[in-house]
Amino acid sequence: MKCQSCYTLNAPGDPRCIRCGLPLDRPDAELTFWDRLTSAETPGWAFALALACCMIPVVSLGGCGPIAIGLGGASLCITLSRIRWLPFLIRLPLCLAITGAAWLLFAVMMSALFQSSRR
Ligand SMILES: [Zn+2]
Repeated sequence: MKCQSCYTLNAPGDPRCIRCGLPLDRPDAELTFWDRLTSAETPGWAFALALACCMIPVVSLGGCGPIAIGLGGASLCITLSRIRWLPFLIRLPLCLAITGAAWLLFAVMMSALFQSSRR
């Protein structure tokens, strides 16, 4: 297994990196969202769904809530899409559901704002 911080190749059973001592059982733990996004291991459809989530703050023209929903949804999609032990037929519907839920949450938030501004 390759170390995520120093790229030393370790034996598959090694719990820690022989060079820098970082734990190897969770190689993604050190990676940021942007590291995951730019990784070749991320499937193409995950990019499309992450992009769909990122459209939320674009449509709303910013705002803390929509940005949090959009980035949260995109991050979840990318993270889920990279779980190799989950079958593709489970990962894809899950990510679709997350994207749908993010937009639904956004719609609920917008209608709530709209209702309160009319009062
Ligand atoms: Zn290392």
